[in-house]
Order: sequence, then structure tokens, then C-alpha cells
Amino acid sequence: AKKTLGVHHQYYEPAMEEEVTERLTMLRMLRADFALDKLELWFQPQLCLKSQAVVGMEALLRWPHQPGRYISPAIFIPLAEYSGLIVDIGQWVLEQACKQLQQLAAANCGSLRIAVNVSMPQFRSPHFVPSVIDTVKRYQVNPQLLELEITESVVMDEPKIVIDALQQLKSFGIKVAIDDFGIGFSSLSYLQQLPLDRIKVDRAFVSTVTNEGGGLIAETIISLGKRIGLSTIAEGVETKEQLQAVMAMGCEEVQGYLFAKPMPAADLMQYLLAYQDG
Ligand code: C2E
Ligand code: CA
Ligand code: CA
Ligand code: CA
Repeated sequence: AKKTLGVHHQYYEPAMEEEVTERLTMLRMLRADFALDKLELWFQPQLCLKSQAVVGMEALLRWPHQPGRYISPAIFIPLAEYSGLIVDIGQWVLEQACKQLQQLAAANCGSLRIAVNVSMPQFRSPHFVPSVIDTVKRYQVNPQLLELEITESVVMDEPKIVIDALQQLKSFGIKVAIDDFGIGFSSLSYLQQLPLDRIKVDRAFVSTVTNEGGGLIAETIISLGKRIGLSTIAEGVETKEQLQAVMAMGCEEVQGYLFAKPMPAADLMQYLLAYQDG
């Protein structure tokens, strides 16, 4: 029997095994680099269409691989989530975001908010709510300037845990945005139970907004937001035509390459100053 197993093993498992090994190697590297403080938090500006001002930014993780090369969060975040490492990384992200808020306040940009992405394993940790509140207090930042971005899939996974946690954070003053809205198209029933402030229209609906009939979903999401009193932000705006389309639909804020790509903290101040002057 042993021999047969061995044969099977050689016959059809190498590819899968290689993949698993590769993922484990990557996870080990991520753990090591995180411990060595090598992860970076970048920021992508968010603009208000009415005032044409930068009103905040989304914090996005970057993992430097080789000089000038980064491993995509779309690859390493799932690994970090699966292994639970995201709980520690998420806490680090929160601290960096609060540090950044502190620096913005010191530079007279004290009304800009920072949005941070939050994953399911973070909500499952019983320390999540108290440690968010403790971090905000420790850095003495205005809780209203911190926004948590949660996706529909997070809500659907454990609605009760997520709603409870968000309600506690909300009563402390922290803002909540629902990210990638419309992608899961199943959370409409939870929408009213969630203590939300903002809906993010996913890039998938923004990129098709200028196509024949392609704006229907974006338009529906934006008007839904209006009807239930939530602010809307369109993400992934890349062209003037897309900007005009979401603006005509009544979207309040935008984020995308048309305005700025995510940038390191060190470049952010310069960007904000240049934006004010130009
Ligand atoms: P997301 O939350 O949907 O973030 C928006 C993604 O769209 C970012 O990708 C951003 O760089 C990209 N983006 C923004 N504007 C444009 C545009 O105009 N065109 C195009 N093509 N892309 C645009 P990024 O930085 O690669 O992040 C990918 C995902 O990784 C994020 O998607 C988020 O789900 C996750 N992620 C990133 N940072 C964190 C974090 O700190 N914690 C957690 N839990 N997840 C994170
Ligand atoms: Ca996000
Ligand atoms: Ca998003
Ligand atoms: Ca997205």
C-alpha cells in the first residue's frame, strides 16, 4: 500500500505540493519581513467632487520585494488572512495610520481622514475593538478621522460579530465604509443593520460606467446611498469620462489613478501641498 501511495504521490501531486510549498515559503518570508518592519503603508488620496479638495486617503499595504518592486497585496493579504498573521499586521497598519493622522494634524491638515482596510480574522479576535479604541486614544487622534473599510464578504461571513464590533466602534466615533459594494450583491438585507457612513462603488462598476448600459449598477448604488443617507465614493476612477459620469450620478467622492496613485507617506505631504497650490 505504501508503494502505491508513493507512486500516486509522484504521479499527480507535485504541482499541488509545489504550490503549497511556495505559499508556505512566501508566508515565512512575509512573517520575517513583517518582524523586521519591512512592510510599508502607502496612501491614496480621496477627493470631494463638490469642494474639489482632498478629504482623505485610503491606507494600502506594500511589501517590498526587490528595490522598487512590490508583491501585490492581492497575493499576500489572503496568505496573511489564512495564517492569522493579518491580526498583527492589521494592528500595525492601524498604528501607522494613527501616526500619519498625528503628522497631518501637526502640518495643519488636521481635517483629513484615513481609511484602513479590515479583514475578517481581525473581527474574530476578541481584542480587536478594545485595541482599536486604545490605539486611537494612545495617538490622541480624532476618532472621526479614522474610517474602517469592510467588504461585503466580511459582513456575510459573520454578520453578528461584525455588526456588534462596528456598533461599538461607531459609538466611539469611528467611521465605517462598505468596500467593493455590489460585488457580493448579497448584503442588501444587512445594509440597514450595519452602522455605515459610506459606500464605496467598486472599480468594476466604475470601469464600465461609460459603456452603453454599463452605468446602471453604479447609478443604482449611488442613488441607493442617497436614499438611505450614506455618502458614496467611486474607486478606480481612471479617466475624465468616468469622473464626469459618476459626478452626473451624484457621487460625492472619488479615488483613482486619474487623481493619484497610492504613494509612500513621505510623498504625501508634498502631494497635499502641491494640490493646494495648483
Ligand atoms: P481595495 O481595498 O479594493 O483597494 C483598492 C485597490 O485598487 C488598491 O489596490 C489600489 O491601489 C487600486 N486602485 C486604486 N485606484 C485605481 C485605479 O484608478 N485603477 C486601478 N487599476 N487600480 C486602482 P492594492 O493597493 O493593490 O490593494 C489590493 C487589495 O489588497 C485591496 O483592495 C485590499 O483588499 C487589500 N489590502 C491592501 N492593503 C490592505 C490592508 O492594510 N489590510 C487589509 N486587510 N487588506 C489590504
Ligand atoms: Ca479598500
Ligand atoms: Ca475597494
Ligand atoms: Ca476593489
